[in-house]
Amino acid sequence: MAGNRATLLIMAGDGIGPEVLAESRRIAEWFILRRGLAAVLTEELFGLAAYRKHGRLLGEDALPRMRAADAILFGATGGLSFAELPPEVGKSDSLLRIRKALDLYANLRPIKALPALAEASTLKARAREGTDLVIVRELSSGIYFGEPRGVETLPDGRRRGINTHSYTSDEIERVARVAFELARKRRNHVTSVDKANVMEAGKLWREVVEALHDADYADVGLSHMLADNCAMQLVRAPHQFDVLLTDNLFGDLLSDGAAMIAGSLGMLPSASLGPVGPDGRRSALYEPVHGSAPDIAGRGIANPLGAILSLALALEWSLGRPADARLLESAVARALDEGARTADIMHAGAKQVSTRGMGDAVLASLERLARG
Ligand code: NAD
Repeated sequence: MAGNRATLLIMAGDGIGPEVLAESRRIAEWFILRRGLAAVLTEELFGLAAYRKHGRLLGEDALPRMRAADAILFGATGGLSFAELPPEVGKSDSLLRIRKALDLYANLRPIKALPALAEASTLKARAREGTDLVIVRELSSGIYFGEPRGVETLPDGRRRGINTHSYTSDEIERVARVAFELARKRRNHVTSVDKANVMEAGKLWREVVEALHDADYADVGLSHMLADNCAMQLVRAPHQFDVLLTDNLFGDLLSDGAAMIAGSLGMLPSASLGPVGPDGRRSALYEPVHGSAPDIAGRGIANPLGAILSLALALEWSLGRPADARLLESAVARALDEGARTADIMHAGAKQVSTRGMGDAVLASLERLARG
C-alpha cells in the first residue's frame, strides 16, 4: 500500500508484453480517474529490458518491490533474443523463480466462450456454446521445479535428460482447497485431473483431493478425470466443466488447448495467487496466459484482451472491486459484440483493429457502460 492506495506494479517483460500491458495500463488509469480506484501504478523492468540495464533479467530490488505490491500486472517473458544471453543469466527460468519466490501456488485461468467469438473458435458453435470454466493449476511445484533435474552424460557417452515430477500432500491440499472454495462461488463442481493410472504422484494427488473433499467440502461435487481424457473432453464437450483442478504440467498444456474454446490464446487471462498472510494480504501476479509471441512482437497487432481481462481478475482478487471487474468484463464483451477484432480473432465482416485500437474499443465501451 502507498498511504491508503493500493500499489499496482507493472512488469511488461518481453516481446508483446509491453504492447499488451500498455493497454492494461490505460484501462487501470481509467478506473483510477473515472471509478475512484485508489491505486498507484508503478513499473519494474523485467526480462531483456532489465538485462540491458542491470545485466540481470530481474533487478536486485525487484523481488522486494513485488512482495510489497498489492498486485503485479505481468506481460510475458522469453523470445528469440534469449538465445544470445550468457547461460548464467538464468534465461526464461526467471518467471519460474518469481513464482517460487512469491510462493504463487494457485494459478486461476478462466475460459469463457463469448458468443461474439464463435467465428474465431475452431470448435463448432454447438460444442463451445455456454462454456464457462476455470482451470486451477498448481504453479509452484511439480515437474517444472522437481529435483533432480539436468542433463548428464552416461559412462557409454549417451546423454540423459532428467526432470522430476513430485508433489507433497500439503502442496496438493492447498491448491485443491482453492479449487473447492472457488467452486462454491460458481456451479459447485470440481473435476480433478491426474494420471493416477500410471503415476504414483497422480495416485497421491487423487487420494489427497478425495480426503480433503470428504473432510471439508462434501457439499461440493467432485469427479476425477485422467489427463488424456480431459484433453479430449475439453474439445468434445467443454461446457461439462466448472472448475478443473490440475497439477503444473497438465494445467499448462490443457489451458493452451482450451484457448480455442475462447477463440485465441490472446483472450485468456490468469491470476497467480500466494498464501494469505496473517495480515490478510497475499502476493498476486496477473498475466495473460500467452507468452512473448516473438512471431508478431513489435507489429502492434497482438490481442491485448488476455492482459486486460487479467486486470479484471486483479480488481476482483486483490483490489476488492468485484463490481469493477464485472464492468470491465462487460466492456470487453461489448467491444467484441460491436465488431472490434485483432488479427488473431479476425473474420470476414468484422473490423480489424491494432492492439491500441482494441484498447480504444474497450475504453469506449467502459465510458458508455459507466454512463449507463
Ligand atoms: P506464445 O504464447 O508466445 O505464442 C503462441 C502463438 O500464439 C504464436 O503464434 C503467437 O503469435 C500467438 N499469440 C500469443 N499471444 C497472442 C496475442 N496476445 N495475440 C495474438 N496472437 C498471440 O508461445 P510460444 O511461441 O510457444 O513461446 C514464445 C516465448 O514465450 C517462449 O520463449 C516461451 O518460453 C515464452 N512463454 C512465456 C510465457 C509467460 O510469459 N508466462 C508463457 C508461454 C510461453
